Amino acid sequence: MTIRYSRRSFFAHARTALASIGFSSLMTPMQSIGATISPGEDDGVDYYAKLGVQEIINAAGTYTFLTAAIMPESVQMAVARAAKHPVRLEELQLAAGSYLAKRLHCEAALVSAGAASALTLGTAACATVANDQHGERIPPLIPQGMASLKNEVIMQKGHRYGYDHALLSCGVRIVEVETLDEYRAAFTPKTVMTHFFNAATSGTISREDWIRVSHEHNVPSMNDAAADMPPISNLWKYTQMGFDLVCFSGGKGIRGPQNAGMLLGKKELTAARNNNPIDNVVGRGQKVAKEQIVGMVAAVDWLLSQTDEGMEKEFRGRADRITNYLSGVPTLTSQVYVPEVANHVPTLLLRYDQKKVKIAPLEVAKMCRDGSPSIELHPATGSPEPGLPSDANTIVVGVWMLQPGQDLIVAKRLRQILMKAAGTQAS
Ligand SMILES: *Cc1c(COP(=O)(O)O)cnc(C)c1O
Repeated sequence: MTIRYSRRSFFAHARTALASIGFSSLMTPMQSIGATISPGEDDGVDYYAKLGVQEIINAAGTYTFLTAAIMPESVQMAVARAAKHPVRLEELQLAAGSYLAKRLHCEAALVSAGAASALTLGTAACATVANDQHGERIPPLIPQGMASLKNEVIMQKGHRYGYDHALLSCGVRIVEVETLDEYRAAFTPKTVMTHFFNAATSGTISREDWIRVSHEHNVPSMNDAAADMPPISNLWKYTQMGFDLVCFSGGKGIRGPQNAGMLLGKKELTAARNNNPIDNVVGRGQKVAKEQIVGMVAAVDWLLSQTDEGMEKEFRGRADRITNYLSGVPTLTSQVYVPEVANHVPTLLLRYDQKKVKIAPLEVAKMCRDGSPSIELHPATGSPEPGLPSDANTIVVGVWMLQPGQDLIVAKRLRQILMKAAGTQAS
């Protein structure tokens, strides 16, 4: 389905579509949180259509491979406006950093090209400061690379993860510890940083102990909290707890540009010495353009105009509407689950007796993907996933990235598929 709507016709269409599936009584007023409007005729060339790239309904979440979040309208407008004028890049970087630092109650901030870039720039900064005679050249332009310099980063074994490479690209090596005693003993004259994975589901050393011991050795401590908003206050919780650097993704729950993120913390460690526009540094390939810097700032402004309660209510409302619409599906049970740390938002899990409703969740996900419009369910559908109580018998619907009215499109599709598998035609 590639119909485009002007703002007015989108609302009109949404109303008609909802009425036609018997849902007019469940409609709530459009809330600012989800109010992203499909472009109209006058918004230029539709390059997705021109390139033959399929638009999807994101019933999954802020996944990078699904282009994560849609920017709210105010952020889209700020990005478009920034595109119209050149500025001096460093002036913009510094101004955006000090504005964000003020709004997020930390000493300093840097807009990076995503959380992974923030991890690289943070590691490079710690290595730069520890090896001060080498300036910003991390890894250095000498034959031994980092081997001859201070190059050790301490991590809990259970915190090793899929973003290790963002640190390792600076030429550091990771020293693993498990117990607090091992941690204390792991510091050497070559230690440049300690690193904590905020959403880790294993590892026994607390954040507070991690920071305290690091500081006893005069070593800065970084925390990767990329996906850990909401709650909104997490944007200052971890810097105020004492982490010297905290990394956030800009394009996940904060709903900024997907290629933006934030490195928050100490002035000296967010000073962009290893970043563009300087050439021949590790961050040079991670450029954040003026549009994304402005978009990141505008997204933080947008987010700080929201409330945790308002967002939670909206997401629960979507989950409830889907569940209600599926009430006729034999044996179906639903659960709304809020993961502990990362993606801390109401997430809908659906289970049913596959002897009665004869289709596996993975097959449901495939049918949703192959249909029109194409719907992507949460990737935990049909499989266990850390932080979620899902398994081979669970359909998982991530509701928080749905746009207005899409909850009912998803509900309708699921109902069709499940009723058919139960031998009953969906009405
Ligand atoms: C998503 C994520 C990242 C990477 O974020 P980007 O903004 O896409 O670079 C890093 N660490 C964790 C824990 C994440 O969840």
